[in-house]
Amino acid sequence: MTDFRRRIPRTDTALADPRLMAAGVRLGHGAVKAAVVAAQERARRGEIAPEDVIEAAVGALPAVGLRPVINATGVIVHTNLGRAPLSADAVSAMVEAAGYTDVELDLKDGRRARRGRTAMAALAAAVPGAGGVHVVNNGAAALVLAATALAQGREIVVSRGEMVEIGDGFRLPDLLVSTGARLREVGTTNRTTVADYANAVGPETGFVLKVHPSNFVVQGFTSSVPVDDLSGLGVPVVADIGSGLLAPHPALPDEPDAASALAAGATLVTASGDKLLGGPQAGLLLGGAAIVERLRRHPLARALRVDKLTLAALEATLRGPDVPVLTALAADPEALRDRAETLAAALRTDGIDAHAAATEAVVGGGGAPGHTLPSWAVSLPERYARRLRLGDPAVLGRVERGRLLLDLRCVPAARDLELRKACTS
Ligand SMILES: *Cc1c(COP(=O)(O)O)cnc(C)c1O
Repeated sequence: MTDFRRRIPRTDTALADPRLMAAGVRLGHGAVKAAVVAAQERARRGEIAPEDVIEAAVGALPAVGLRPVINATGVIVHTNLGRAPLSADAVSAMVEAAGYTDVELDLKDGRRARRGRTAMAALAAAVPGAGGVHVVNNGAAALVLAATALAQGREIVVSRGEMVEIGDGFRLPDLLVSTGARLREVGTTNRTTVADYANAVGPETGFVLKVHPSNFVVQGFTSSVPVDDLSGLGVPVVADIGSGLLAPHPALPDEPDAASALAAGATLVTASGDKLLGGPQAGLLLGGAAIVERLRRHPLARALRVDKLTLAALEATLRGPDVPVLTALAADPEALRDRAETLAAALRTDGIDAHAAATEAVVGGGGAPGHTLPSWAVSLPERYARRLRLGDPAVLGRVERGRLLLDLRCVPAARDLELRKACTS
């Protein structure tokens, strides 16, 4: 036997790799063994090095199910990673609600009750200024419901500076027009005044829409009109605040929130549940009791109805504590620095070229555009990026100037050890 053949790992050695063992549970042991045998064959034919057999087998496994990921990107609300990770309480609430549950029943008298009423009560309690609340599938659905119920066949007045694309090619103007409403664009990309709105408002107006321009900022010679000034126009004002802060947050002074928008006179506020609120994918509608009831009774509301698991997770998130998005937002940079230095030192004793590096984290998901949060990362050679991404759990960092940065802001401190293991396994 030639020397390189002897260096090909035996099948049982390969199958003892933790990633392949975990994959066996998910995919069945037969499929994992087949991937190992195929990788050994490739090594025998000289297509890959014997040392790469296990890596090749891991890489060749078919993708099944959603894989858990440690988010070391420094982007708190990362849409490609499922946005907000749920709190432990929200996860248990979902598990409990997974069986039969009283989602639409009052157990006291055995009669039908409003769907998700305890979650609605928690939302109403979190925003006392809202006379009515309703929850649909996501933020886009909340806007569609508002546009359909309040402006179908009529006009939505919106600033040209707020006609945004929210990602993956979805554009809010197209979404609104798909409901049968007409858009009445006012102002220019950089400047819109209250007079622009006033000139456009008339008998055809369904509502004036104020959109949080997520993902970008307009700088320089700009002006936009706050909700306060729009509320004097005599027509309903819908504020799409986007990221779902219910009240002002000290770390994000420029980010709009539901309570302030309602206090400024918004008739209706729409927001996402899985951005800065830190809960499950959901669309929140908050506003006057009568208008919210009208939306809730609209036939389309049934098609946008939210699932019982979502209601359970949303309520647990609203009742807190320990919501991971808020923990990441509030993380103390000095504590992150200590963790990064400790982890980097441990990795150096493992023989890895690692050091702590100051970084800038962001909110992401369209929240707080242009705002950065001081953070700390462990910096590693770039070649670790692929193997960490293919690990179990996968670890996703970001690559900058030939180095892989593992930003610790969104990594719970209890998982630092897993990061070290992932680098050394
Ligand atoms: C994210 C966002 C939406 C869409 O909300 P989803 O929950 O993703 O459907 C709409 N408007 C704004 C301003 C947003 O930031």
